[in-house]
Amino acid sequence: MSELKLCQGTKCHTYYTKDRLKGQQGSKTYQTRRRSSMYYGSGNFCSFTCQSDWFSEFGNKAIDHFGRTTEPKHLTEHNAWVKDYDWRGGSDDRTHLYYYVNQITKEQRPLTEAQYNDSNYTLNER
Ligand SMILES: [Zn+2]
Repeated sequence: MSELKLCQGTKCHTYYTKDRLKGQQGSKTYQTRRRSSMYYGSGNFCSFTCQSDWFSEFGNKAIDHFGRTTEPKHLTEHNAWVKDYDWRGGSDDRTHLYYYVNQITKEQRPLTEAQYNDSNYTLNER
């Protein structure tokens, strides 16, 4: 059995759904949902409602903790690189052609598949 995670929604247990009603007959309670995988908020919430409940309660604190944006960011040629690929769909040549494209200058640079899949690999200045 895969490990179950609890929804991090602050009010998850307050929503009356049949699947939340758990426990011994006669002493059932509405409980926070447990799932092997969840699709909201990077796998932390069972629903968009639960994600929104969490953000309503903790969002401001989280933004202040990790750094509030206080100046507009600017897209320039130094941070405009995005990864993309072309599907090379021949019947015997099923490979992708990976590349970086600069959204400002439209310059393209080739990428290996490993660089494409590496979320830490970037040409952008940080
Ligand atoms: Zn939930």
